[in-house]
Amino acid sequence: MQHMFSFEEGNKDMKDLLGGKGANLAEMMNLGLPVPPGFTITTDVCNFFSDAQTRTGHGDYPAGYTEQLEEKLQELERKMGKKLGDPENPLLVSVRSGAAISMPGMMDTILNLGLNDATVLGIVARTGNERFAYDAYRRFVNMFGDVVLGVAHEHFEEKMDLMKGARGVSADTELDAEDLRELVVMYKEVVRVHAGVEFPSDPREQLRMAIEAVFGSWMSERAVLYRRINHVPSGVRGTAVNIQSMVFGNMGETSGTGVAFTRNPSTGAAEFYGEFLMNAQGEDVVAGIRTPQSIEELGNVMPDVYAQLLGAKDALERHYGDMQDIEFTIENGRLFMLQTRNGKRTAHAAVKIAVDLVNEGLLTREEALMKIDANALNQLLHPRIDTGARRDVVTRGLPASPGAACGRIVFSPQDAEEWVARGEKVILVRRETTPEDLGGMHVAEGILTAMGGMTSHAAVVCRGMGKCCVAGCASISVDKHLKVCAIGDLLLREGDVITLDGSTGEVMLGEMPMIKSEISGDFFEVMRWTDDIRAMRVRANADTPHDAAIAREFGAEGIGLCRTEHMFFDEARIDTVREMILARDLPTRVIALGKLLPFQREDFYGIFKAMNGYPVCIRLLDPPLHEFMPQTDGKIAELAVRMRVPFEQLKLVTESLHEVNPMLGHRGCRLAVTFPEMYEMQVQAIIEAAILARKEGIVVMPEIEMPLISSTNELKMLRELALRVIRKFEAQHGTLDFAYKIGSMIELPRACLTADHLAEYADFFSFGTNDLTQTTWGISRDDVGKFMSEYLTQGVLERDPSETIDRRGVGELMRMGVEKARSAKPDIEIGICGEHGGEPASVEFCHSIGLNYVSCSPFRVPIARLAAAQAAIKDRDSRVHGGVIVMPATPRIPSVISG
Ligand code: ADP
Ligand code: MG
Ligand code: MG
Repeated sequence: MQHMFSFEEGNKDMKDLLGGKGANLAEMMNLGLPVPPGFTITTDVCNFFSDAQTRTGHGDYPAGYTEQLEEKLQELERKMGKKLGDPENPLLVSVRSGAAISMPGMMDTILNLGLNDATVLGIVARTGNERFAYDAYRRFVNMFGDVVLGVAHEHFEEKMDLMKGARGVSADTELDAEDLRELVVMYKEVVRVHAGVEFPSDPREQLRMAIEAVFGSWMSERAVLYRRINHVPSGVRGTAVNIQSMVFGNMGETSGTGVAFTRNPSTGAAEFYGEFLMNAQGEDVVAGIRTPQSIEELGNVMPDVYAQLLGAKDALERHYGDMQDIEFTIENGRLFMLQTRNGKRTAHAAVKIAVDLVNEGLLTREEALMKIDANALNQLLHPRIDTGARRDVVTRGLPASPGAACGRIVFSPQDAEEWVARGEKVILVRRETTPEDLGGMHVAEGILTAMGGMTSHAAVVCRGMGKCCVAGCASISVDKHLKVCAIGDLLLREGDVITLDGSTGEVMLGEMPMIKSEISGDFFEVMRWTDDIRAMRVRANADTPHDAAIAREFGAEGIGLCRTEHMFFDEARIDTVREMILARDLPTRVIALGKLLPFQREDFYGIFKAMNGYPVCIRLLDPPLHEFMPQTDGKIAELAVRMRVPFEQLKLVTESLHEVNPMLGHRGCRLAVTFPEMYEMQVQAIIEAAILARKEGIVVMPEIEMPLISSTNELKMLRELALRVIRKFEAQHGTLDFAYKIGSMIELPRACLTADHLAEYADFFSFGTNDLTQTTWGISRDDVGKFMSEYLTQGVLERDPSETIDRRGVGELMRMGVEKARSAKPDIEIGICGEHGGEPASVEFCHSIGLNYVSCSPFRVPIARLAAAQAAIKDRDSRVHGGVIVMPATPRIPSVISG
């Protein structure tokens, strides 16, 4: 078995084995770009190592590993003409982790490995640059101490600050060789004190330890947390390790390092976007140690290198057909490429880039659609600060991740999580963020940092999360211990409310008015493409004419779930509902229902009007009646007075109606079987509203839906009930001039199992996956919340089944339901309602089992439209290739970079 691959042996399609970083380094090298040579240890080795660790308590390597490592190392030494540990001409390498999925900042990299008191002299002799040699050395001791030996970075930082103070300088570049040599000694002492070990001086030992640390970091708390937050299945393969010969950006003023995006990741504009720092190494640019220069400045500083970099940028974008996020280093005027990957971007940028790449002929529409993260569209649908509002701007930082956010300020990720758990909205304010802050960042509305640039940790992570971020707000000083921050002489305390505008970088006091966004421009264009491609229609769940109108704006093609009970909760109506509930005989009940009829008719009419030409699926009354009754004694007493009934009697009735979760008792269709008058009124209201709308030329397509059906006879009986009402109508007013449907919600396992029988009495089915999930799992929705996060952390479940359709249980029932229903009635229309209908992975599943439509909340309609198109494209592609994903041959681009 081959456990490691030279960069020459890999390519971009080997991500599973080589990790994203390794596969792309290989791809760049084979494209002819200047990549420092190296090799990649496969993810299989990491898995082997972690498995052994879980089993026996310590990691282990597969057979042949040690020999292959030695072989690859010697091959690298030959290529470079240097040897690891050779005091005359030492090879230095970086040890870089990289999993198949990109996990920014999660795994730690070690640079300059191979240095010790002897080899550093070799570097001095070879380069004639003593300062550089010791700068590399102190960085190595720091990184190795931190990543491998677990000594907190701040202990090294402390010594660095001491040294700067002693020399009276403010930047690390102002320290000279002698200072740095002293620092190395101090750093080693730090390691001795805090790790209790001598710093390892043997380079091969250093390498072994570094590789092990990378493998260990795969299961580190923060890596596990990142994977959990991003729903990475726990079965995903581990990380690869890249061993790469070093190039040095810290060799002086003709050296430097930088990061850049081939397009603007905030707006999507086709402009080179990035930062660089001269005389710097590795993460210096993103760490906010010194303020980096913007990338086009490089054109002035080093025109030739800049031209080369532009060439590489264009080649990479053409080659990958996507916006790239690249890392480079300049060593004594020579450019080296150190990383490329598809760049994280805001939804706004994703949409613009997709449209531009299609217009530039780089991608087909289908390819472009596949590159947009459907979930991220959420950002575009989120509110912005009302442009008309007066802005009380107290300071300004960098517009690092767009959108607007408002909340109470907190100063630690732990506080953020605590406050949010209490139901508060928070803004996390930090000097700068680190991967340890991830949990707090996840729950915060927005992030504000005092340090760091557009490529800082906070900025990159927020853009990925679609979270508003203002970074590098230099005028803020943060004291996390006192939980205060100062902006000039303004002092803000924990809990104070601020608003951030991530698109301008402005920070405002108090809560600003927000406005909703709309679909226009590039977003509209992309949405139009999805409509041509997808097989499923997308409807919305809407209970009011207002929501129905929003749904239409977002492109909903009908209503998949209109809940009638919401119409009853209205102040003006609820007492009439209660009269109906309390009625002790039929005539009293019919009178109360008669009062409700006009309200319902009016609501339905409004919704038909908003949905002109599209179907509206109306679910007849569903919840148990206790939900309409007052819950406290005080409220019951008030109602008793209003209704002139004795308190005791009212309390008794209320209690008798009470249902507890999962509320499978006397509700939904079951209520209608015992009290048919309720549904009769609702059907009448639907038909009358439709007739009214028809008179105005509106095209109505009502669908009458029975909830909670478990027995075929329930559906049969209620269908007859509805038809009876309609026929009575026709007898009085003549034949209806519109088509209507009568069907059933499928939300109980039994309904899935008997869908073929039910189909006889249904024109359509709609999966109610909320109740279906609860009843399949035997967990009520309230209970799910109580332990689901625990379940997810402990790996009992990979996904929260209330968020995404669980394919083994709920999904299997759905598949069976569809098959059975279509076996009895091939053209029966089947959809899904509930939030699953707007969740991309669930939408893909719905496509795969052949649903006709998905329905979700109006704000998720665009997400569902894109997800449905992506499902159709994937489906078609896998059919074309007979289920096997065939990778197109990689075109070789002639070396665009020379020298
Ligand atoms: P991350 O995954 O956190 O981006 P990287 O492995 O890319 O970590 O490395 C961290 C930093 O070190 C980056 O700035 C990268 O460009 C730099 N780096 C990595 N390998 C080398 C190398 N061989 N020579 C010079 N710089 C390197
Ligand atoms: Mg990197
Ligand atoms: Mg239900």
